[in-house]
Amino acid sequence: MRLKTKRKGIYPKHNKSRTHNKPIERIDAPAIMVYPMSMHIGAPAKPIVEVGSTVKVGTLLGEAQGFISANIHSSVSGEVISIEDREVISGVITCLIVKNDGQYTEEPPYPEAGEDVTPELVPELIRRAGIAGMGGATFPTDVKMRPSKDGKIDTIILNGAECEPYSTSDFRTMVEYAGEIIEGVRVIDGVFNVDKVYIGIEDNATEAGDVLREAAAGYDKIEIKVLESKYPQGSEKQLIENCTGRQVPSGGLPADVGCIVSNVGTFQAIYRAVRLGKPMVERVTTITGTPIVDPKNLLVRIGTPIDDLIDICGGFQEAPRKVLHGGPMMGKTIKDGSIPISKGTTHITFLTAAEVDEEERIDCIRCSECLNVCPVSLQPILISNAYERGDIEKAEQLGAMDCIECGNCSFICPSKIPLLDNIRKSKTAIKQNKKAV
Ligand code: SF4
Ligand code: SF4
Repeated sequence: MRLKTKRKGIYPKHNKSRTHNKPIERIDAPAIMVYPMSMHIGAPAKPIVEVGSTVKVGTLLGEAQGFISANIHSSVSGEVISIEDREVISGVITCLIVKNDGQYTEEPPYPEAGEDVTPELVPELIRRAGIAGMGGATFPTDVKMRPSKDGKIDTIILNGAECEPYSTSDFRTMVEYAGEIIEGVRVIDGVFNVDKVYIGIEDNATEAGDVLREAAAGYDKIEIKVLESKYPQGSEKQLIENCTGRQVPSGGLPADVGCIVSNVGTFQAIYRAVRLGKPMVERVTTITGTPIVDPKNLLVRIGTPIDDLIDICGGFQEAPRKVLHGGPMMGKTIKDGSIPISKGTTHITFLTAAEVDEEERIDCIRCSECLNVCPVSLQPILISNAYERGDIEKAEQLGAMDCIECGNCSFICPSKIPLLDNIRKSKTAIKQNKKAV
């Protein structure tokens, strides 16, 4: 049964059919790999190797700094040939460049990992493995998985609602690694002993629900929630409400309503860290879009430059006009193909000139569509206007920080006003103002 869901949303074209049924292909890494010291939200990691250092698969390259941060590991064996600042997805970041020796010699697994790991050790192993949310948000996972004294977590929610157009990496991960995902759930259930586990998927991915249901046979806490295919169905607050009926308060966190939410792939990474003792060095990424001859779901070693994946997908049949890290709703434009696949790269979308909306901005026609589609009931045009006249205080009063950056407002706006861009910039300015105080 599909649940008709409550919050507002929109219905962009899925554009998933070219990769939906394509099994994940594991590929080799290229000769040169790039490891930004920030592939996560929070403080960048600090490099702990030098130019000339020999590394293996799993060698710690950068150490997490502070509570909200994540370790960075090498995904190949070889030699560190440079440490330099480069522009990547999250800005200009220190990157370690490693020359791949093609041997893929591995570090030994963590000796504490295995079937008998104590609940106390689970967050430590997740931190050591450098796991950050794989749905694109890249929040360091160990922080979520530490029990707090302030309140009980009674519900785990796996986010398999892959609502961003073009991406099929979560879908293929659910279909092909269902057993590992369910084992990851058991690991986290061992920490919190929850009452209920929901796996939220959209109704265009019911095959994944069938495979997960089979993998979870006999594990009665688990319920698959089949939700309407709607954007942004996979946003954290929306998913919590649709699965549990609970509403996260403005400025609040899932833990405030007793929930942990994480992407399905993140649970697979947790299984691999805690049971197998392996750090996060690879992920499934969809390389897709009309210009690509043979779009694919690839198991890619983190640090692989995007340029190196194009030939593997048959090259271009038409010149791309735009490349997005992610999809058209929340994705960021990539201007340089040397940018690597990172922990949050769900997909890379190539768009043709005809698919890129290049109409010019005109004045707001006061149609109210941006208000109608905002899933968190903001007034996007008012926040945008406040930002454009430099009134950051007003943008904050209007709730800019509650924006989940879904992009619905920009997508729907007939006047092509860059609402999401302006709201993102407002949020940055609000944070900077707070730091300066
Ligand atoms: S204001 Fe934020 S949350 Fe609301 S529609 Fe726009 S991007 Fe989405
Ligand atoms: S959708 Fe665009 S044109 Fe309509 S009210 Fe919002 S900003 Fe104005």
